[in-house]
Amino acid sequence: MIIAIDGPAASGKSTIAKRLAAKLNFNYLDTGAMYRALTWKVLQEKINPYDEDRVVNLLKKIKISQNQEIGENKSLVFSLYVDGEKVDEEIRSPLVSQNVSLVSKFLKVRRAMVKVQRKISKGGNIVVEGRDIGTVVFPHADFKFFLTATLEERARRRAKELQEKGIPVDFETLKKEIVLRDKIDSSREHSPLKKAKEAIVIDSTNLTPDAVIEKITQIIKERRKEI
Ligand code: C5P
Repeated sequence: MIIAIDGPAASGKSTIAKRLAAKLNFNYLDTGAMYRALTWKVLQEKINPYDEDRVVNLLKKIKISQNQEIGENKSLVFSLYVDGEKVDEEIRSPLVSQNVSLVSKFLKVRRAMVKVQRKISKGGNIVVEGRDIGTVVFPHADFKFFLTATLEERARRRAKELQEKGIPVDFETLKKEIVLRDKIDSSREHSPLKKAKEAIVIDSTNLTPDAVIEKITQIIKERRKEI
């Protein structure tokens, strides 16, 4: 079974998708982390993120892999590696966030990423989160959710996340970055961020993660009864 979770930046997809996967005992795939990993490497190699040919060539040369395990309190710990180097912290840096939408615009990048995403997800039970999962990567996903929250709330959550890591944040700048990233992601030519027609929208602005998970699992249970 494939459960797709899409939505704009900082809408809580990772928190929800990870917890849902742990609860259902499913695999989990963070496709945003894959685009972030490539972006991190682009920046490391001092490649101009607007230079499509060099970005695509770099992607051909590197190996992005992932691993998941069950951590404390049955939580799911997902890790991403570039050429065997663990890059979980690095790919969440503000600099990567500011550049990732440029790199993920390129068609050849998307094609290569989608190929890997489909391969990883083949045959198993998995929760996959991203921007184009319900529309392009898995148009036949068993369940499609589109997670949203107000801009204020999304910025507040992202600020908290960064502050907890000791990264200084300016709230207004962060808000602007989120707006810009969503704008680039939703207006790009290939696989823009878009709600799939049949996706169920969940506005998490006033919901705790537990409440969102409860809502999603209820929907899954009810729909499965109907089938
Ligand atoms: O989900 P996250 O915010 O980590 O994603 C980072 C970026 O990766 C997005 O802003 C978007 O540019 C890109 N992305 C994408 N397609 C996906 C997942 C992420 O283009 N399926």
